[in-house]
Amino acid sequence: MPRTSIVAGNWKMNLDREAAIALAKAVDAGRGQAEGVDVVLCPPSVYVEAVGTAIGSRDPSQPASVGLGAQNMWDQPSGAFTGEVSAAMLVDMGCGYVILGHSERRVLLGETDDLVASKVKAALAAGLTPIVCVGEQLAEREAGQTHQVVSTQVRGSLAGLSADQLAKVVVAYEPVWAIGTGKVATPEQAQDVHALIRSLLAELASPEVAAGIRIQYGGSVKAGNAAELAAQPDIDGALVGGASLEAEGFLAIAAAFR
Ligand code: PEP
Repeated sequence: MPRTSIVAGNWKMNLDREAAIALAKAVDAGRGQAEGVDVVLCPPSVYVEAVGTAIGSRDPSQPASVGLGAQNMWDQPSGAFTGEVSAAMLVDMGCGYVILGHSERRVLLGETDDLVASKVKAALAAGLTPIVCVGEQLAEREAGQTHQVVSTQVRGSLAGLSADQLAKVVVAYEPVWAIGTGKVATPEQAQDVHALIRSLLAELASPEVAAGIRIQYGGSVKAGNAAELAAQPDIDGALVGGASLEAEGFLAIAAAFR
């Protein structure tokens, strides 16, 4: 089944308002280079609205050519959750996507598979496309535990979803040792885990549904290594951190997935 590749920029806690707007406009202006690829920007939450305005995503009569996403959300609709934002709030700000379970949140903030699964359900209920991150630590890879760790995360983070819900999810395989380190997984290492994830999705939903689910690779993706990753049969895009902070390089990555 042909899958539309998806390349998302995770800006993390970088940029100021002016720089965020400028970067969004530059990506929007050059977006034609990556025609046929879904291109998504995930700014810090306080800049989501400004970036949405810059790329036109808040005008429902003009479908944005660049998608807007957040980097996190809470799983409850409202209430006493200081510092958090809900899925409905993100939709209200023009978001179509949300990154969930990023390793920085799992490691630094103790997010568990259970919490991620609850957030995934809340995101889907609000009409957001969740980008669900999984990936092993270096010590786990070196101990030969990659498949076991990723399987547990996929099963746990997507627990309780129907096949119809699974069909709407994007999965991002991000080996933690490759994030922000300049160490990219080899195309073979990445393809091996992507194939594992697709087989797990086939078990959780069905082979037909799994064949349509986009699985991104993330971890030091750059313009120079994107093409060899894009050539792998089960790699359907990239979740890009550092290299998404500069429009030309980010667009070159997106173009590699055409
Ligand atoms: C990320 O944090 O999702 C990521 C992949 O970062 P980087 O591209 O900088 O490794």
